[in-house]
Amino acid sequence: MDSSKNDLKQGKQPTKLVGAEEQHDYQPKTLGDKEKNGRFAYLPIFPVQIVGKNEYLLLANVPVTCLTSNEIARRENGAYTSDALMLMNMYEYGDIFSLSEEDVEKLATHLKIGKSIITFNADRLRCISCTLFALHESFRRNILFKKDVALKEPTLNSKQMAIALEFYLQIDVDLFYMKTCSFRGALHRSDLEGLFCSKDEPQANYSMIPCQNPFCTCCHPVNNEKKTQPWPVVNFASSSMHQFINGYTTYLNCPATCNTTNIIYTMTCPCGQYDYVDSTAETLADAMAYHRKHGNRIIHETLTGSSIFPYMTHNSFEFERKITRKMRLYQHSARCPIALRLFLDCNPNYWCFIPLLVDEAGAENKAYVQERTPCSTSSNEAAAAATTTTTNVEVNVVLDMVHRMHGNRKVASCLQQVPLAPAKYVFSYDQREQQRLFFEQFLASDVDQRPYSVVDLYHVAIIAVLPDNCSIILRYLIETLFIIHGETKLNMICPIGGDPQQHYGYPYSLVWCKNLNRPYMIPGTSIQTDNNI
Ligand SMILES: [Zn+2]
Ligand SMILES: [Zn+2]
Repeated sequence: MDSSKNDLKQGKQPTKLVGAEEQHDYQPKTLGDKEKNGRFAYLPIFPVQIVGKNEYLLLANVPVTCLTSNEIARRENGAYTSDALMLMNMYEYGDIFSLSEEDVEKLATHLKIGKSIITFNADRLRCISCTLFALHESFRRNILFKKDVALKEPTLNSKQMAIALEFYLQIDVDLFYMKTCSFRGALHRSDLEGLFCSKDEPQANYSMIPCQNPFCTCCHPVNNEKKTQPWPVVNFASSSMHQFINGYTTYLNCPATCNTTNIIYTMTCPCGQYDYVDSTAETLADAMAYHRKHGNRIIHETLTGSSIFPYMTHNSFEFERKITRKMRLYQHSARCPIALRLFLDCNPNYWCFIPLLVDEAGAENKAYVQERTPCSTSSNEAAAAATTTTTNVEVNVVLDMVHRMHGNRKVASCLQQVPLAPAKYVFSYDQREQQRLFFEQFLASDVDQRPYSVVDLYHVAIIAVLPDNCSIILRYLIETLFIIHGETKLNMICPIGGDPQQHYGYPYSLVWCKNLNRPYMIPGTSIQTDNNI
């Protein structure tokens, strides 16, 4: 009530909002050119009547000490300009994706700001929501092949809008810091502080605490002992804060553990070049299990060209394969040298599917032929075979190898499906031999047995905890705002570029085997001892 009186009392334009000091205003660290970077349209701003003109970011998470006098004036009076008050009077309360009058009052008191900032940005968020839900629908239809009816509650009611808005207003240009969070065990940072940061910098208030369960995969990453350089999948020590690859920073808004449900989390490839945002109504460990299952399977399929369970033709399995194959997240890990190396450290029997440079393969082939030169051959002949590229001896050895490859029809068919190497790379004879042995073992193993040890391929972190009663679309909405501001290259939804491929390019380098040097490669030496499945 009081705040509305205040709004009217101070219904005048603040003195000097724009001036000569403009160039010294707060310079966003992650936005670059505001005109070119589509993120601006998704950020909260001060109320303004004409879209695109004199739009000023709210900068809720910038400490007052970092603002110019113009910006401080805007922060103090921006809610009470004639534009702001006029727009507030036009706000349609209680419509679809709108707030009730009561919820506007409550939120204004909770955030300690003028109501016009709430109603103006609620309208902005309503437009954003409609755009983002349309994108989600097309994603569900075109990528997931799901009908549009799956969302039980296609709109946000006033209470849900109030939650969405409290997040939205604090997903600032460089930093997410929800200092007003008061659900799931969180407490207001200070009774005096509202939406806008006081003189204090944002600070880490909450972290993710290990649950200590001996079977928890967040606390104890699977097959960690097999990695040459073990790293924590969830870094509890740095869990209160996360930085995306573009520099956008988030502070955890609630206390969390491995068992916290309704979360938004990130996945960052250990190569440090690609990241991803997702959310789940379940726990982080549940989400990790899903990604581990598909990420490792897709590496197997990408390297070998064969389905993991060749005898399984069940529709739902095929359907899942079809969807996950399109995901940039899995495409990246299957072609990223760092992620692949991690998989290969745990599964050295897959090295035979990593092609070699032509020269390297040539040296290995020479040794291979030499090794298989019949005993009856004189030493002179062997020396000749070693120095000549194509000799009768080599032809015979290769023919023998080809003969073995065709000895088993099913194995031969698997070998034919192994993807071709990129230009300047080939498989050596020894590698083809190893591939044959791999498929022989693979086809002879139990139907439901995986031929590899699974490993987590990404660093994972919770970046935001949502309220318990959060709806699916509210979760999607907040998740997508993080996709936008984190500029995550591996998400399939890319609101600021239309199509992630167009905006960020391929999720991997086409010469994917370039930096994958075998750690123990000695030409001519069989690596069969490492091939136990
Ligand atoms: Zn745990
Ligand atoms: Zn990577």
